[in-house]
Amino acid sequence: MNAERLLQRFLRYVCIDTTARDDAEGYPSSPGQLELGRLLVEELRAMGIRDARQDDYGIVLATVPAAGAEGPAIALCAHLDTSPETSGAGVRPQVVRGYRGGDLVLPGDPSRVIRAAECPELAALAGRTLITSDGTTLLGADDKAGLAVIMETAAWLMEHPGICHGPIRLALTCDEEIGRGVDHLDPEQLQAVACYTLDGSGADTIDVETFSADLAVVTLRGVNIHPSVAKGRMVNAVRAAAAFLRRLPHTTLSPETTEGREGFLHPYEMRGGVAEVQIKVLLRQFDTAGLDGLAELLRRAAADTLTEFPAAAIHVDVRPQYRNMAEGLAREPRAVAYAQQALQRLGRSARRTVVRGGTDGSRLTALGLPTPNLSTGQHTPHSLLEWACLEEMVMACQWLVSIAEVWAEESESKD
Ligand SMILES: [Zn+2]
Repeated sequence: MNAERLLQRFLRYVCIDTTARDDAEGYPSSPGQLELGRLLVEELRAMGIRDARQDDYGIVLATVPAAGAEGPAIALCAHLDTSPETSGAGVRPQVVRGYRGGDLVLPGDPSRVIRAAECPELAALAGRTLITSDGTTLLGADDKAGLAVIMETAAWLMEHPGICHGPIRLALTCDEEIGRGVDHLDPEQLQAVACYTLDGSGADTIDVETFSADLAVVTLRGVNIHPSVAKGRMVNAVRAAAAFLRRLPHTTLSPETTEGREGFLHPYEMRGGVAEVQIKVLLRQFDTAGLDGLAELLRRAAADTLTEFPAAAIHVDVRPQYRNMAEGLAREPRAVAYAQQALQRLGRSARRTVVRGGTDGSRLTALGLPTPNLSTGQHTPHSLLEWACLEEMVMACQWLVSIAEVWAEESESKD
């Protein structure tokens, strides 16, 4: 791999502000995503990928043509936007070559320190090239590390036609961070047997499970009337909401008290007044059937609250969000098996991990395109203390090339 070219790509991409905007109506939610997409299309065309284009939604689509093999198409996916939680405007990336170990003080704000004690993975990276922001913005390695890895892999394959692989579809999406990453991506149009999102942390990990997720909207209706004449007539939805929340478990089954494979109920937003209060609650479980149990807890809390506020009305509306990708991956086991096999060929082994969240891959998988998530060398996403490791990005590129080869060879040997 051309590590220096990969680094320069990454640095080019992080300097374009692609912060997703939660409150924006349009798609994509910010103009920087279109600007970065245009740059990527230009770069893909310059590699000789003639079908590269940006669609009406700003999504970049392209195909690395097959070389020396008839195998089925696989797809690679990464997202152009960065998290709205931390500013991504005016990123000034810092490149630390030959990291000496210890803490990294960020030059734009020396009070910001990436502490070795808080990032145990740094211990193994002495001598490597690390990239950080200057401490005043995020870096944007989530997911520009994924973009750079896909782009460098595409360039490498175009330059090495001797490597046998089937067609590789690229889908570089917008607004993943605000949950709209695949709103306008029809998995059918990729015509691929499997897809890999490049959006994971560290090196040599493959995310094979995500939460299954529902969103509950709880609406509590009271009766509003001027407080001066409220006796016996007012029903205060704010008080009913407090009573309702008190009845939800909080020393168990909450994000604050769970980890690993434990699920939770998470009331995360509340708005309203005396007449009506609306509470949004996230329901999360690895076992999809377990979501019903969480919804039942909400309904029971609602019923109990009504005994205390009989004149109030409480409505619990539960909507599905995404499903544990393990269910869809089980239907196409080659997606994970070939990725593991590909890494073994490189003399490395993949760690299978579980995400306490969802990925674009969870939705693509649910829509019928099995899509595990691979590591890209990004670390501490959504933070001013975000960083990336160039050598781990190189490892991701090598992994992708090997995956493409395994798909081609395995398909050929089965013909
Ligand atoms: Zn991401």
